[in-house]
Amino acid sequence: MNKKVQIAISACLLGEKVRYDAKILPAFDKNSVLKQLNIAEDEVEFISFCPEVGIGLGVPRAKIQVIRNKQQKIRVLGVENHTLDVTTELESYAQNFFKQHPDIFAYLVKSKSPSCGYASTPLFDDSEKHAQQISITSGLFVQTILKIKPQILVIDIKC
Ligand code: SF4
Repeated sequence: MNKKVQIAISACLLGEKVRYDAKILPAFDKNSVLKQLNIAEDEVEFISFCPEVGIGLGVPRAKIQVIRNKQQKIRVLGVENHTLDVTTELESYAQNFFKQHPDIFAYLVKSKSPSCGYASTPLFDDSEKHAQQISITSGLFVQTILKIKPQILVIDIKC
């Protein structure tokens, strides 16, 4: 039997209750992406992941954001409280996920997320009150995966 193509997918895109606000997204149309990739559904094994739940944050949970601090370092901190710092945890989760799933062909990721977004996530400055968006970046899970394997296919899914 041929081995299936492994595609990792943000769990919230599959309608799983993992978001910070506990809302369930309508499950997105996987077939349109598979068509673009020229892969039939029965040839694919989807592997769902949620970095934020994976590091032990609850549902619902405090909202987090990607920040460039005064030392020009990227951190992922609580929006309301910068003492919530999950940077190291998200990096470790991504490294472990990659180690456990080295054969993944593509990542389908939820747009704009501080963990999962790909070139769609707001990047903020370091002020706790009235932080300003300074640019667009990727979520830290995706940034970490791309550091390990820069050529991996990542598709940002807007929904
Ligand atoms: S975008 Fe990523 S971290 Fe956020 S709920 Fe979806 S899977 Fe979890």
